[in-house]
Parts: sequence; structure tokens; C-alpha cells
Amino acid sequence: GEREQSPLLDGLNPQQKEAVKYRGQALLIIAGAGSGKTSVLTRRVASLLETRDAWPSQILAITFTNKAAAEMRERVHAILGQGSDGMWISTFHSSCVRILRREAEKIGLSSTFSIYDSADTKVTLKRIIKGLDADTYGFTPGSAGAKISKLKNELADADSYARNANMSDPQEVMFVEIFRQYSARLRAASALDFDDLIGETVYLFRAFPKVAALYRRRFRHLLVDEYQDTNHAQYALVHELTRPVTAELAQEMEDDGVHVRNLRDATGAIPGASLTVVGDSDQSIYAFRGADTRNISGFERDYPGAKVILLEQNYRSTQNILSAANAVIGHNFDRTDKKLWSAGGDGEKIVGFTAYSGHDEAQFVSDEIQVLHAAGMAYRDMAVFYRTNAQTRALEEILVRSATPYRVVGGTKFYERAEIKDALAYLIAVANPVDELALRRILNTPKRGIGPATETGLSSFADDNELTFRQAMRNSAALGLGPKVTGAILKLAELLDAAALMLVPTSVTDDGVPVGGSNDGAANVSEVLEFLLSGSGLLAVLRNSRDPQDEVRAENIEELVAQTKDFNKENPDGGLVDFLTQVSLVAAADDLDDASGTVSLMTLHTAKGLEYEAVFLTGVEEGLLPHQMSANEPGGPAEERRLFYVGITRARKRLYLSLAMTRAQFGDINVAMPSRYLQEIPADLIDWKQSPGMANSRGGTQPRALNARRDGGFGGFGNSLSGSGSSDGFGGRSRQQTGLPPGKPKTEWANKITGTVRDNGSLELTAGDRIRHHDFGEGRVNQVTGEGTKRIAHVQFDTAGAKKLLIKIAPIEKI
Ligand code: ATP
Ligand code: MG
Repeated sequence: GEREQSPLLDGLNPQQKEAVKYRGQALLIIAGAGSGKTSVLTRRVASLLETRDAWPSQILAITFTNKAAAEMRERVHAILGQGSDGMWISTFHSSCVRILRREAEKIGLSSTFSIYDSADTKVTLKRIIKGLDADTYGFTPGSAGAKISKLKNELADADSYARNANMSDPQEVMFVEIFRQYSARLRAASALDFDDLIGETVYLFRAFPKVAALYRRRFRHLLVDEYQDTNHAQYALVHELTRPVTAELAQEMEDDGVHVRNLRDATGAIPGASLTVVGDSDQSIYAFRGADTRNISGFERDYPGAKVILLEQNYRSTQNILSAANAVIGHNFDRTDKKLWSAGGDGEKIVGFTAYSGHDEAQFVSDEIQVLHAAGMAYRDMAVFYRTNAQTRALEEILVRSATPYRVVGGTKFYERAEIKDALAYLIAVANPVDELALRRILNTPKRGIGPATETGLSSFADDNELTFRQAMRNSAALGLGPKVTGAILKLAELLDAAALMLVPTSVTDDGVPVGGSNDGAANVSEVLEFLLSGSGLLAVLRNSRDPQDEVRAENIEELVAQTKDFNKENPDGGLVDFLTQVSLVAAADDLDDASGTVSLMTLHTAKGLEYEAVFLTGVEEGLLPHQMSANEPGGPAEERRLFYVGITRARKRLYLSLAMTRAQFGDINVAMPSRYLQEIPADLIDWKQSPGMANSRGGTQPRALNARRDGGFGGFGNSLSGSGSSDGFGGRSRQQTGLPPGKPKTEWANKITGTVRDNGSLELTAGDRIRHHDFGEGRVNQVTGEGTKRIAHVQFDTAGAKKLLIKIAPIEKI
């Protein structure tokens, strides 16, 4: 009865309770945003432990980011008031690395294997493409890499691909060769890329049933958050982990002394682990990385007898925000309609803002942040989202000026900085001496007089003699390179050997190269790093340089050293490889720091799963949302709509949607058109505020902003704004012209959304004219370029500096 109910069910609605308490084999929780999916998953983990249905070590919970994993771990801890040692809560990638480090030798890898990020993949592919002259077939590292990644996510390799490819097509032959060489290079370097981490684990389990059985025996409960974004390889991994162990294999295990008797059923088999997945198909935004919502829709078929629980109450957002989200996502086809509702009241209206420029939009965001802050909202409770990283520049500029504390989440990319990659490459070369990529990176960094010809010479010397690059370095005397260069190469090899010997070697390669891995009582990671930095001179060179940029680089390397010290403290047993793994698996969202007291800026993709009191969703324009790259792709606009839905549903109380009529891009000024998705939000939910600059600059005419607001908002199509569609207005010159309501002239629609549409079409400007701009004051026209509606005035303002203005719509007049 209710009285003996555990406190961890407190406050949950009946469906949530059911999801926490259910103890069957397979459970699917499908629900819209903010309905408590992640919360329920967390409580379910706690419940399994509390009821003793599972030991911590029997649980594997998969989250989408490392940050989410840490959060879940903390919450479970807080709920239970006890530790949960031995429980695995981590991302797919982290779990796989853990498994692979243990089992590496079985699949021909060193346990200290390197993990290649996309930049490493690019460098590798660049070398391969160059060697094959594959660019003449149209291949770039980017295009080949994307195709390889896609295939790996489907668990294909070069051979399986070749079997089905049209090998009479020379381009296909070339691609297969690139794929083969890429795989071979990674193998030779004992390296795995991100996709391999999943694929190789699946391969390991399929190729070694006994190994798989050990993990199936261990993990009795598998829980996966954000299941809608799993790709085929991840799906297969889940399947491998939750399959039963046959009676035969279970018997073999028992004969080997593995304790499994308590797990075996009447037939002698070990039943599959229980599986819980939670997800929302409407939030699937990683199709470009192979995410497949069929993993959700096919769940009941794949796991017969699965229990399905729907959650419909949203606890995050106000009803106005939810209604907007529901309306938008309702335009996607092929979906099950979910009726999300909130008990939190209507709340404020959504605020819409049409800015003249990206700069103007940033100013609006910054001003509103200050208003919210003055009203008592903490900076950390606000977030600004954008579709592309390029949009941050204008935002940062204004936020800096207004002294608003902010942080670009996932934007700093600390570990991607060249100097950090250099320093890390030294550590990688110690941990994994066969990693040619790392060795070539540090060969002449800092400068030792080893030129590119020597580098490629060493590489082909290694290939020709079936040596690793490191072995080639040791034998470089045979190359007749001259004493100075040879000496420099040998000195570097010796430095790496010495560093490895500071650690307890995990192994020694065939020709005696020590492999430094663990720190068991020997030197720790920071000591090894400091040894390498001083031995190589990397830090000294930067410190002594007169280039001010090098000072920043030196500071960054010092920051890395500080990080290794923190790592030592936090992970007393952690070795070099653990540190490198942690660094490799850092993702954008892991950059979040809740205690930072700053406004968070991030892409819409990074925002998944998060929530904020106030959200600013910027750049709600055609070309950005939907992004121009996906606007014409099959399924593209639907996926972008889901991205918009994800963005909207992050907001708890306040949601701002903004767009700019012009946006500077690659030195050009583009005219943007309101996103097609805006019209999908019922007009009465949005309060449109006009860009002040535009509304006021309309001179004698009545500002349409006021007019429209009286009529119930710019989002409405029912109301008519007489005179607004006079000529070929704003919409006629946009880059994107699709997605407008059928039967409505696009200009009229665009005018309603944006409110005021200036038409300076007849303004004849020439060089030498003086003009007045609403915001920038007076200035002189230096030049007019472009034609017709795309004419741009290059103006030198008396105080505001040089600007490029689209004559047709800029708030300017001739004086
Ligand atoms: P998303 O789809 O965005 O990942 P979600 O379904 O995982 O969202 P949660 O993040 O778990 O949703 O929950 C959203 C918010 O609602 C959180 O702040 C959570 O604490 C709160 N919440 C969830 N369930 C309840 C409840 N029963 N009572 C009160 N608050 C709740
Ligand atoms: Mg969630």
C-alpha cells in the first residue's frame, strides 16, 4: 500500500511510478520533452539498488554525455545516501573504451590503443588521399571521412562494402581503397576512431562469445537514455549485451570456474539482461551521425513482450511554451502524436524579435539578459542557442561589451588547440609507441631541423622495411641523413623511452620499446608530462618566443599540466592511459559548469537534455533553421524542425525567438527570411517586439509593428495588414522561398512576421552621396556594388566606421 511506499517514488505521477517499479525484461518509455524520462531512469536505477533487485556492479546505465552520466551518478547517490561503487554510468563510448582496454589483445590491439578524433582522422585521410591521388576522383578528407563514418555506424568494413559496391565504377574502387588503407593505418598505429569504439566492441562480442557471456553475466540491467539517437552499431551493442547466454556456454563458464549458477534458469541458460530504454522520436537530431528512430519504433518487435509506458505530463515548461512546441512538431509526418500538457500555468508569452542585423539581434539578447538579471534571474539560469557556431561572434562581442558573464559551451575546444595536441602527442607516443600519427606530429615540434622530406622518408623507410615509425626512428642512422638530423631523431626516441620508463611499463614491443601505461607507485601523469615538456623544450620555446600568441600557447600548456595534477588528485590510481582516455572522450556538453554563474551559449545540438529558466533561440531564419545544407535534403526540414522543437522545449519559463533580416557571412551580407517554422506557432502565443531601429526609422508612416501587435501578433496569418505587400517586399529576394503557406503571397507573409519592411528600392545612391542611418548617424557613400535589389552601399560613417548596407532595406535616407 501507499504507506510502505519508498520515498524515492515521492512526487511521481502514476505512469512515472510504474516505470520506476516495473521489473519485467524489457521496458520502453516514450514521452515528449520534459516529461521526466531522465528523472525516471535515474530513480529506476536507485530503485533497483534499494530493493536489492540489483547490485551496483550489475547495472549499466548509458547517458548521452559524460556530464549527464556524472549528474545521474550524483543523483543516485543523493537519493540512496550511499555510494554506488562498481556501477557503470557512462556514455556508449566510455563504456566501450573500458571494455576494449581490458580485452584489446583479443582483437589484436594494444591495451594502450590511441583514440583518434575527427582531426586525427582528417590528417590520416589527407595522407592517404595524397598517396593515391584520390583528389582527382573528387575525394576530400571530409567527404571520404563522412562516408567511412556512415558505413562504420552500420557496422560495415571496407571488405563488406566492396562486396556490394559497383566495382566497375572507378570512383567506388578508389573509395574502397581509401577505406582499406584508412583501416590498415589505424590498425598499424593501434588506434581506433570514435566509430570503431562501438563497432569493435560489437565485433569483440560477436567474435568471442565467451567474452560476451562474461559481460552479459555481469550487467543484468541495462538502461539507455536518449534512445532515439542511437545508431545501428549502438543498437547492435545493446542487443549483444542483453542476449541470453546459452545453456551450453553457461555450463562452459561454470566449468571454467566462473560463478553463474545463481543466474541460470530451468533450462540452464542465463536469461538476457533487463533492458530499459527511454526516448522521444521527436527529439531525434543526429540522423547525420546515423541515428535511427527505427530503434524505438521496432523495440516491441525486437523485444517481444516489452512493456511500453507513455509519460504525458510535462514538468519543465509553461503551457505557452509547450503549446508552441506541440504546434511546431505537429507539422512533422509519420509520428505518434503525444499530448504533452503542463500544470504550471500558461506563463508569459513567447517573445519574438525581428532584428535588422545579427548585431542588432545580439544587442536585443544582451539587453533582455540584463532585464531578466535585474529582475532576479541568475545568469546561469539563462542560455542562448544557435544553429551554427558562426553566430557566436556577434553575440560574444556584445556580451563582452555589456560585461555579461557568459560561457561558450563546447566552443573553446581546449583539447583541439594545436599546442595542446602537440603536448598530448608526446604523451600518446609514450603510451602507444606504434602511433605514427602522434610521432609525426612531434617529430619536428619544437623545431629540431627535421624537415618534411625526412618525415616522409622515415615513413616510407618504415613501410618498405615493415617497421613501425618508432622503429624507423631508432634505425634512422641507416638512412644516411647526416649526423645532425640523425642525432635529433635518436634524441627524441630516447626521450620517449625514458619517459615510458618513468611509468611501470605495461609491455615492451618486439624490439624493446617500453610502453608506458600505468603509474603503480611510479611517476604520475603530471611528472611524465613535465619531463617531456622540459626534455623536448616545447614549453621553453614558447616561453622564449616574441610572438604574443606563443605566450597564450605556453599558458595553455601550463593549464594542461595543471589538469594532469588535478587528475592525479582525483584519480590516485589513474595512469597515463586513463588520462588520455578522459581527454579523448570530452564532448561539447561536458564543458558545462553549473556553478559558473554565467549565461551559457551553445548550439541547438548541444542543448539536448538540458533545461534553463530562460532560453534565447536566435537565428530563426531560413538558411539557418532549417539550415541551408539540409533544407533540400530528404528528411532535412523535418529533422531541423525537431531541432527547433528541442530548442523550444529547453525553456522553463521564458522563451525568446529572434531573427535578423540581414546577416553578415563570409564578408557578404545576406538577406534572411523568417524561418518557415515560425508560422507554425499559433499567433496568440507570441508577443512580437520589433527591432527598435527599424520601427522608429519609418518616418511619417505608422509603424507596422504597433499595427500588427494590435491585431494579435506577427505570427498570425488570419489578420490582414493592408498595404504591407505593396511591392516585391522582403520575401522576394530571399535565398529560400519554400515552406510558405499555400496560397499566400510570400511577401505578405514575410511582412507580417517581420513587421516593418523597408523599401528603399527607388533610392538612387552613388559614390559621394551623404546619408543618414538610424543607428550609425551620418556618413559618406564610398561605393555602390551589386545590382537591383541586391545593391550594397559601402559607407564610411563619421563616427560608426565603415559599413556595408543593403540599400533596399537599410534604415537610411539621403541627406
Ligand atoms: P528531455 O526530453 O528534454 O530529455 P526528460 O523527459 O528527460 O526531458 P527530465 O529532464 O527528466 O525530462 O525532467 C524535466 C524536469 O521535470 C526536470 O526539472 C525534473 O526534475 C522535473 N520533473 C520530472 N518529473 C517530475 C515530477 N514528478 N514532479 C516534479 N518535477 C518533475
Ligand atoms: Mg532527458
